[in-house]
Amino acid sequence: MSADCLFCKILKGEIPSTKIYEKGNVMGFVDIFPQAKIHLLFVHKNHTPDINHMSADPQTIGEVYQGIAEYTKAQGLDQGGFRVVTNLGKDAGQTVFHTHFHVLSGEKLGRFGS
Ligand code: 5GP
Ligand code: ZN
Repeated sequence: MSADCLFCKILKGEIPSTKIYEKGNVMGFVDIFPQAKIHLLFVHKNHTPDINHMSADPQTIGEVYQGIAEYTKAQGLDQGGFRVVTNLGKDAGQTVFHTHFHVLSGEKLGRFGS
């Protein structure tokens, strides 16, 4: 946990969020500024600033992805389909430096890129 990290505060319940999933060290919650009909964020309780730092402990990536797989199957999001995105750094538009995976779904998504 990192004291001044927004998502660590959400994980600790110090900042409210609409939680949709929690199991072990993984939590999923609704993005406050949705970019699709369904826009969720999945995070691990161990604070890392981005996916490259997280890769030092690959098990944590696996745990987050197991949460995404479990949730999307349970909700049937895998039927229509969904996209998983993680941003690293300024060119990708990363704004919160606690590794998170966006899950976008619920409608036909536009293509990504510049
Ligand atoms: P990034 O731009 O770093 O890839 O993604 C950060 C995401 O966090 C953005 O999609 C933004 O809408 C979301 N976000 C920022 N502040 C909050 C907040 O306080 N609560 C929630 N639920 N989402 C947030
Ligand atoms: Zn954090």
